[in-house]
Amino acid sequence: MSKIYLIDVTNRDGVQTAKLGLSKLEKTLINVYLNEMGVFQSEFGFPTTRHESLYLQANLELAKMGVLHPIRLEGWIRAVAQDVETAFKLVPDIRHLNLSISTSDQMINGKFLGKKTKEDILMMMVEAVDAAKSYGAESIGVNAEDASRTDLDFLIKFGLAAKEHGADRLRYCDTLGYDNPFTIYETVKKLAENTGMPIELHCHSDLGMAVANSIAGAKGAIDGGQDAYINTTLNGIGERAGNADLLAAVLAITKSKGFAEEYQLGNKIDLSKSWEIAKFASYAFGVPIPINQPGVGANAFAHSSGIHADGVIKDPETYELYGYQELGRGEPVQVETGREIITGQYSGISGFRHVMRSIMDETEGKMAVLFHDDKEAREILELVRYANVEAQKPLVEDELMFIAKYPAIAKKLLTLKPLDY
Ligand SMILES: [Zn+2]
Repeated sequence: MSKIYLIDVTNRDGVQTAKLGLSKLEKTLINVYLNEMGVFQSEFGFPTTRHESLYLQANLELAKMGVLHPIRLEGWIRAVAQDVETAFKLVPDIRHLNLSISTSDQMINGKFLGKKTKEDILMMMVEAVDAAKSYGAESIGVNAEDASRTDLDFLIKFGLAAKEHGADRLRYCDTLGYDNPFTIYETVKKLAENTGMPIELHCHSDLGMAVANSIAGAKGAIDGGQDAYINTTLNGIGERAGNADLLAAVLAITKSKGFAEEYQLGNKIDLSKSWEIAKFASYAFGVPIPINQPGVGANAFAHSSGIHADGVIKDPETYELYGYQELGRGEPVQVETGREIITGQYSGISGFRHVMRSIMDETEGKMAVLFHDDKEAREILELVRYANVEAQKPLVEDELMFIAKYPAIAKKLLTLKPLDY
């Protein structure tokens, strides 16, 4: 039986969101958390974008070190042979790519102004796939941008051409969030049947249906005999109205009426990390979690009306589909109301030692091996200062711990000098 896998695109679609962004350290922490949760793949960035090169290289080093394992790190680029060459020049160790090109008449005509035909699109895509193969790509997804407004025959042709040249998956992009669960099911099922390729579902929420469309599309792929790969983001953040929320997608797959009896995740997801990762994404992006967000919103487990409160007190299942404990919620959160020492871009060694000591106390000796001497402490502080310059807000404990544990990697992440080319 075919299965459903998750490809999180927070570090690609999420950071493309207007008015928002992440530091390279924040992007790295997101990869670490996604790996801990058991997410199959992270679309971790843009291999042709020069300010990402050191971040991407550093994360691939973390993969080699076993820190980012078993998660797969994959880069997004345009389906242009020249971009493939640039990607491998800037990030030689990259092994997983998604190659993107527009397939709808609207986008082909709108972007290329009549200078490109559909045959040209196919040609560009297969040349890019060939190039990626020749540079040693181990997995290649081809993205049909605006697939939901592309005629099915052309999508099938696109998929078959990609497959013939060695691509592994076809990404069906509902770029404008135009599909509904009924249309995406039918289209994706036919795509899977006619191309024999695993299908990625990339859904947006312009009509409020990103998660519903994702699982309907996944069902279509599986009914068509192929694996499904759902693209998600943390807290549903993404361009315009956003993408399919990671947690909501997992909950929909595993908890919705009768779905999990037939359609299952290919690898286990540890939902107990949900609360922590949602909080971190909210802090890093500077976007509050909506009060009614599935699972992690402040009201997701709040009951006030008489009948509901009475029911849930007697038996939680009366008004809750799943427990808050499963999502890692329920621990009291401590808020400092007195004196605070915070590390920042102008911090000194005394304050820094104080902060690190308090983290150590909380984590019971987890950090005990750190700081063999004063020189080492000062070196870590210097990196922490730079991380603050980039983030422009206080670092969370996991970021401080990360820098202390992997100073050489942190240094690479924090190096943002424009590269020569
Ligand atoms: Zn998108």
